[in-house]
Amino acid sequence: MSESKTIFEKIIDREVPAEILMETDDTVVIKDINPQAPVHVLVVPKRKIEHIASMGETDAGIVANLLLTATAFARENGIPSYRLVINNGALAGETIHHLHIHLLAGREMSWPPG
Ligand code: 5GP
Repeated sequence: MSESKTIFEKIIDREVPAEILMETDDTVVIKDINPQAPVHVLVVPKRKIEHIASMGETDAGIVANLLLTATAFARENGIPSYRLVINNGALAGETIHHLHIHLLAGREMSWPPG
């Protein structure tokens, strides 16, 4: 039985509209629909991995590519200061079970995060 697609898979397959700001062979960068900062984008692997906790050693390249895409996005858009966030688990705020990195920028960030 095949699982239903996540919203991010539907965006990647162009079945649901989204602002896709950057695309590589294995990642997309999309604008978050509910931005928490002047810049709030999501770096998403095209291959669905449920969350960071389900990654294995063979997925190391995907994590590296996600980080490289995030930093390339910041560099190409002249964003010197930014925060990268991965939420894992409901208590941490994970709502979409398709791994993604949040890139937030354009305002002062507090620490620790709430
Ligand atoms: P999480 O809470 O899983 O770490 O992050 C999920 C993110 O996806 C949230 O920031 C939420 O605003 C964003 N999001 C949820 N649905 C959509 C959608 O349909 N389109 C876009 N572009 N972002 C979405």
